[in-house]
Amino acid sequence: MSIARFWRETPQRYNLGGARCPRCHTVYFPPRSVCPACAQHRQTLGHLEPFQLSGEGSVVSYTVVHDAAEGFEMQVPYILAIVRTVEGPQLTGQVVDVDPNEVAIGMRVRATFRKLREEGKAGVIHYGYKFAPAEEPIRRAEPRGPEEAALVRAGPGTASA
Ligand SMILES: [Zn+2]
Repeated sequence: MSIARFWRETPQRYNLGGARCPRCHTVYFPPRSVCPACAQHRQTLGHLEPFQLSGEGSVVSYTVVHDAAEGFEMQVPYILAIVRTVEGPQLTGQVVDVDPNEVAIGMRVRATFRKLREEGKAGVIHYGYKFAPAEEPIRRAEPRGPEEAALVRAGPGTASA
C-alpha cells in the first residue's frame, strides 16, 4: 500500500468509522458515498451517515503467517484473520494475544488499538486496529480481584467514592 493511501485512510484506521445507509441500514467499512445494496442506489449519494463500528465480531477465516512482509519481521508467526463485525462489514486484521494454535473460526474478538508496524531506524510507527480475543460473558460476570469482589457483594448502587 502506498504511503498516500495509508494516510488517506488513517482516520478510519484509528477509530473504525464507517458509514450507514439510512434507507436499508447496511453498514460499510471503509465508508462509502453510495449504497450499492439499495435498488435506487444513485439516490443514496451523499445520504450515508457516519457510523461507528463497535469493533466486536468473530473470526470468519484466518491464516498463520510465517513469512512476514517487510516491517512485520519481528512479529512472526502472526495470525491474519477476516473478522465479521456484529454490524456486518468484514475486516481483515491481525489477531493478537492468542496462540496461533488456539485461534479458531467463530472465535469472538474485539478490535484494539495497537502498533501496526515500524519503518526503519527513523521509527515511523503506524498505528491501527488489531483484534484480541473478546472476554467470554461468563468470565466477565466473575469478580476480577478483591476490590471488584467487594463491589459485587455490596450490590449495585452502593459504590462509595
Ligand atoms: Zn441502502
